[in-house]
Amino acid sequence: MDVRQRSLQRLSSAAAAPSVAGGARRPADALVQASDVLPLPIRYTNFLFSGVFIASLVFLMRRWREKVRSSVPLHLLGLSEILAVVGVIASLVYLISFFGIAFVQSIVSCHDDEDEFLLSAPVPGPAAAACAISLATDPICPLLYTDNAAPRKDPEVTAEDEEIISSVVAGRTPSYVLEARLGDCRRAAGIRREALRRITGRALEGLPLDGFDYASIMGQCCELPVGYVQLPVGVAGPLVLDGREHYVPMATTEGCLVASTSRGCKAIAQSGGATSVVLRDGMTRAPVVRLPSARRAAELKAFLEEPNNFETIALVFNRSSRFARLQAIHCALAGRNLYMRFSCSTGDAMGMNMVSKGVENVLGYLQNDFQDMDVISISGNFCSDKKPAAVNWIEGRGKSVVCEAIIKEEVVKKVLKTNTSALVELNMIKNLAGSAVAGSLGGFNAHASNIVSAIYIATGQDPAQNVESSHCITMMEAVNGGKDLHVSVTMPSIEVGTVGGGTQLASQAACLDLLSVKGASLESPGANARRLAAIVAGAVLAGELSLLSALAAGQLVQSHMKYNRSEKISPKLPPE
Ligand code: ADP
Repeated sequence: MDVRQRSLQRLSSAAAAPSVAGGARRPADALVQASDVLPLPIRYTNFLFSGVFIASLVFLMRRWREKVRSSVPLHLLGLSEILAVVGVIASLVYLISFFGIAFVQSIVSCHDDEDEFLLSAPVPGPAAAACAISLATDPICPLLYTDNAAPRKDPEVTAEDEEIISSVVAGRTPSYVLEARLGDCRRAAGIRREALRRITGRALEGLPLDGFDYASIMGQCCELPVGYVQLPVGVAGPLVLDGREHYVPMATTEGCLVASTSRGCKAIAQSGGATSVVLRDGMTRAPVVRLPSARRAAELKAFLEEPNNFETIALVFNRSSRFARLQAIHCALAGRNLYMRFSCSTGDAMGMNMVSKGVENVLGYLQNDFQDMDVISISGNFCSDKKPAAVNWIEGRGKSVVCEAIIKEEVVKKVLKTNTSALVELNMIKNLAGSAVAGSLGGFNAHASNIVSAIYIATGQDPAQNVESSHCITMMEAVNGGKDLHVSVTMPSIEVGTVGGGTQLASQAACLDLLSVKGASLESPGANARRLAAIVAGAVLAGELSLLSALAAGQLVQSHMKYNRSEKISPKLPPE
């Protein structure tokens, strides 16, 4: 996940306060207005306090006029006057907190730029998006006004909500303050959605609102929610891996994918199962710093690579978390810019937050000895996160896993409907030579990303990390006298975690539970995340076997036509 998003997460989670009614979490008190906790509906309290303010003010002015006429000193107050002064102050405080702050927020928020929001927004919910809503009411954006966007009185909208919706539509109330102000995440999402409907004229029919715990995503997973997307989850398996059976959850809308992976699992199971080995486990973050000269940058590089300094640097780095353990620092220069790729183990977390905190510690420490060091960015793209990069393919990132199996001749024939020599030849010409012709970077496979993405979405991983997590080379060779098939997948950068991020959401946690890797491993920190990485590689192995077999047997188009274009319920065979 991008550093700025992670910073926002940290800020947001720090701001999360204990739950209020209904279990909804609300952000920092600083953003909760006095009116939020009033026992009466907002419009009654508005009316009440406005009345108190006017009556007290009128009373005080009359009294002062009488005093001036009869030359009585103004500061001598009777009980009724004291009460009137208290009434004026109290109602003024209420009115300013209700109308004043919202007014100032709506003005200020419209001038925030995106960066300011990402780094400093105290509540999940960007000022930028609030501005987008205000912009929509601006005549400069006539396209956003459509005939059917005219406010429609919805019978389910209460009078109180109606008032807030109108205020959001008019740009007086920023959409991102709704959760904090109402203390009810579901209600906030409903109001935001209705405001959006009125602004855009799009009803969002089909995008469900109910049936989701909006409090669970606050400050963690998603800002400005208006609903949730439904995705089917299929299950492939059993995948027999290292002597254990796993049913693999896959969230996808690609017909054939789950069925095809399941067929691969069947071939593996009937051949005695697959085995895996995790070669390496370390998340990386590479800040970039600039020094006055290339010579000076080289001095810092030498300092970081000096074995005697590693222990001290590791000590500083590891303070970020009890699970973070610095493993290595690899440096590269571009002119006077130095890129330092820190690599560390992160327990069961995918680890981007953890490694970024460790890097911040080290940069602070280095600044003491290298005061001319200018930190350009905590991420200098040598990490490399969510972008295709040779460094991940060669050095690895996250978990580096190899998974292999020997598929028996009769299983190749009966289950995969092809033969060993056809598979070996196809793999060589397509996955190896074909990918070389394409100048591929880590793409020496048939469709690893299909399986990786589907498991990532089902288990709450960061789907954008599919880019490097899908790096894979598939190898196939004939063994046992040319009859059986040795197949393997080598995946150097599988980035997964079983704690943090989306893994704690109910559906995703259920899928992790199905794989027996939910949460932190109690026996050995990191064991659950490593097991999940091995399962991902095992499922990729199954997917590769099945798709390549379909291609070898010339079944691909046939099966796609059958399962993507048909309404019949009778699965089998693969996609690409
Ligand atoms: P990430 O670094 O992947 O972004 P987070 O920082 O969001 O993950 O989540 C990791 C959090 O979970 C940390 O606060 C860490 O202390 C806590 N945690 C609890 N148990 C474990 C564990 N076994 N491995 C890693 N982190 C753990």
